[in-house]
Order: sequence, then C-alpha cells, then structure tokens
Amino acid sequence: MFTWGDSVVQVKNVDFLLTFKCPAQCQHCSYKAGPNRVGYIKPKEISRYLKELIKMHPLQSVWVHGGEPFLYFNYLKYIIKETKKLGIPRRGVITNSFWAKNEVIAKAKLEKLKNKGLKAITFSSDFFHQEFIPIEYVRNALKAAVALGLENIIVDSYFVDDVTTYNYFNQITKKNLELLEDIEELEFHRYPMGVEGRGADLTEYLNLKAELPSGNCPMPFWIDGDLKNPETIEIDCEGNITLCPGICIGNTNIQSLTKIIQNYDVDRHPILSLVSKEGPLGLLKLAKEQGFKQKQNFVNECHLCYELRKYLQQIYPYSLAPEYCY
Ligand code: SF4
Repeated sequence: MFTWGDSVVQVKNVDFLLTFKCPAQCQHCSYKAGPNRVGYIKPKEISRYLKELIKMHPLQSVWVHGGEPFLYFNYLKYIIKETKKLGIPRRGVITNSFWAKNEVIAKAKLEKLKNKGLKAITFSSDFFHQEFIPIEYVRNALKAAVALGLENIIVDSYFVDDVTTYNYFNQITKKNLELLEDIEELEFHRYPMGVEGRGADLTEYLNLKAELPSGNCPMPFWIDGDLKNPETIEIDCEGNITLCPGICIGNTNIQSLTKIIQNYDVDRHPILSLVSKEGPLGLLKLAKEQGFKQKQNFVNECHLCYELRKYLQQIYPYSLAPEYCY
C-alpha cells in the first residue's frame, strides 16, 4: 500500500486496454478505436506491470479489453495465464465476438482461454456493434461460453439517451437482444452510452439541457473507489494510466507504474483536482481563462466534462491522454 500526503491508493482492479485496434468502428466508442489504430501491450510490459502491482496492491481482478483484445489472441492468453499464476481471482475479457464465425470456432477459441484461467467474459451487443459484427457471431460466442461453463457470461449493451428511450438505435438493440434471450445463464447489463469520444457526435439524438450541468462527477461505473482513492486503474497500449477515458494520471514511458501510483494526488492533478472539488463545472473557469466560449448545450455532467477537456487537451496533453479520445 502506498501513501502520499494524506492520500492512500490501493489498486484492486486493473483493466488492460490491450490495443485500440478493432475490426469495428462504433459510433459511440470513447477511445475512437478502429481498424486503423496500431499498437498493443507487449508481454514483457504486462509482466512488468503485474510484478509492480502485485507487490503493493491487493489485486482482485484483471480485465482485458480495448479496442478488440481477440486481435492479439496470444497476448490475451498470456495475460490470463500470468494473472492466474499470481492468484488474482477474477480474470475476464470484453469482446465484440468478431472471431466467432461459427460455434466450433467459437468454442475452440474460448476453450484455449478457459484452459489458461479465464473466468468471466463480457460480450458487447447493441446497435453500434451490430453495425459491424453479425448478431449470429455474438450468439455463437455466447453459446460456446455457456457450453464451456465460464463463471460469468455477460452481455453489455449501450443505449442512446436512456435505456428506456424509444428511438431507432434502441429499437434495433432491443430486437438484437431478443435473439439472445433464450440462452440460459446470461447476465444482461444495459447502460446509457457515454457522451464522449465518438459518442459526443451523436448529440442530435440526445436530450440537451438548457442549463449547465452543475452536479458532481459520477465516476465511470467500472471504476471502484473515488477520484481521491481510485481502486481501479486502466493501463493502455500507449503506457497511459487512466481513471476515465482521456484522463491520465501518468505514462509508463516516462515514469514507472509504481511511481505513478505512489505520486498520485488528486489535488495536484490539473483536471481532476477541479472535477473532484467542483464537478465538471469547475473546468469551465479553467477553459474560459484559456479562451473557451460556450457555443452549445450539454446532455449531462460527463458531456460537459468531455467538451471542456477537448478544448483543454492541447494545453494539458500529459493529463488529457490518450490524445485519440479527443
Ligand atoms: S467524464 Fe468527467 S465527470 Fe464524467 S466520470 Fe469522467 S471525470 Fe467524472
């Protein structure tokens, strides 16, 4: 456990964003992943990160996502194998199922991961993913995961506006999900899409508020703890350590992961210090000082936060990374 000033950071969960490359190019993707992105986390970097973390932190889970982690299947297997060796109990992967052309192929792939120690798997299925990946592939992958008896089999779907809003996108998502509902032992998770990354270009379909959102930072749902003491960190293939897509607390090409966590102090982070005390509205003062003029309305706190960060990115490139998010 590290202490810095009066802050104590105990990392319990690590997400490896193995690559930002993806066969899909979803309209809501926070990281703007796609076929033209390059790079991945090399096995020796994975080993180094895990070695550093396990010494000082009570790691409970490692998830691998991206981008599409099955594009680097051998490295994905390596991460699962290493995390099992270290006794980290929860080991999972998030995928869009592009590799599951039929049930035989799907089962063969997942069996290899299960043999290395995979416990949980999340399949992305919604309007956005199914623009690129046939729903039959998702079904093949789900059936294979059930047949292999993986412990947690989850379907994550992102909805435009709210999960109950009636619109074209959500109707397609609902229809696709109905094609999966007969498969037993699945957990279905439904979320409103984030208004950031490519998702910030979909505001014409969203409910823009007349007044400025003035609430606190809600924290991404997958980050345990709070901004002062985050329990989940994300490590990407460019070395960025992020707490929310595009908000970086250090880069392992500049400083070791150990030092980044040891030195993390929310009050000294130029962006998070303001967001944690005043909510995203705190960033408005900073952006205005830099010449920002409000020309639009916002959907919610995170949309305001994202647009202000986008304006500030060139001024704080180290804290607002990876750059592609913007
Ligand atoms: S986008 Fe900003 S307000 Fe929303 S969870 Fe991330 S840091 Fe908090």
